[in-house]
Amino acid sequence: MKKIIYMLSALLALTSLCSCSTPVKEAQKTVYAMGTVMELRAYGKNADAALSAAEDEITRLDALLSRGFVNSEISEINKNGGGEVSADTKAILQKGIKVSDKTDGAFDMCIAPLVDLWGFYSKEYHVPASAEIAEILPKTDYNNLIFGGESVNLKNGAELDTGGIAKGYLSNRVIDIFKENGVDSAIISLGGNVQTLGKKADGSLWRVGIRDPEGGLLGTLEALDKAVITSGGYQRFFEEDGKTYHHIIDPQTGMPAESGLVSVTIISSDGAKADALSTAVFVLGKDKGVTLWKNEGDFDMVLMTDEGNIFITEGIKDTFQSDYDFSLITKE
Ligand code: AMP
Ligand code: MG
Repeated sequence: MKKIIYMLSALLALTSLCSCSTPVKEAQKTVYAMGTVMELRAYGKNADAALSAAEDEITRLDALLSRGFVNSEISEINKNGGGEVSADTKAILQKGIKVSDKTDGAFDMCIAPLVDLWGFYSKEYHVPASAEIAEILPKTDYNNLIFGGESVNLKNGAELDTGGIAKGYLSNRVIDIFKENGVDSAIISLGGNVQTLGKKADGSLWRVGIRDPEGGLLGTLEALDKAVITSGGYQRFFEEDGKTYHHIIDPQTGMPAESGLVSVTIISSDGAKADALSTAVFVLGKDKGVTLWKNEGDFDMVLMTDEGNIFITEGIKDTFQSDYDFSLITKE
């Protein structure tokens, strides 16, 4: 761990030395949205304008997608059992449904009634009786989401929750806005979900840290134009009678997923896909996650099991560093 921290400080020192000779404008902004802290850092002469355009987009998408706003598009769709969708909701549903299809519904945007039953939405936590779960389960099936391209229909009392994909969609949008504003070097962290654009001012690659659920760093990796998105039960949970219950629900059982994984990081050029996949693989567990990776092939993963074992896929083997031992997952 210490080794990595020393290395990071050395890298930081190097960056500031280099920036003395070729000053590159750096702009930073912290925004609170979607229930989390979002840190944006952009470089270049248009960095300030890019950051304020990004902040506007974050506010717009938060108001569109969050169930916390009674008039958000998602809230209206849930109230009315369906309705027309905006271009953003359309893109999210399309990408999300693809991941649901590929994961046998482990990723399920109809999870809202279960999230509410457990109290993760209201923060009035509650361990439901099995009869309560059984009553809700027919609603939480992604096949209840009938998506016709421009409009959506929710069957069997289903309600949408885009919490498992929205931040990744948003990080794609922020990076697009940076590019439109002429920024070609940036790093953003939306509640720990990171996306990078280009290289650092000194020409080196961004090095992104992955949190160890027990505290400190699980490892770091270099990311060029990549989203590095993590799902973990440690990110939101409550305790009752000495047991912890976390916020990622297995749509099959209605219970917090217990797949043997405590942390799943997906590395992909598409933030929305990485976000949906991180939630899905957390539910599926290591073996099914690896099969998915072998079939898809266009993303990488860092997995940590409840026994503390770390697995990484071969695409990141040259840049992943950890003070822990780790094993390589290959295509063979
Ligand atoms: P993430 O941190 O990206 O894994 O997303 C977790 C959030 O996604 C939760 O707080 C819920 O809002 C929602 N969620 C929980 N379980 C699922 C699931 N199985 N599929 C899709 N979204 C889920
Ligand atoms: Mg997710």
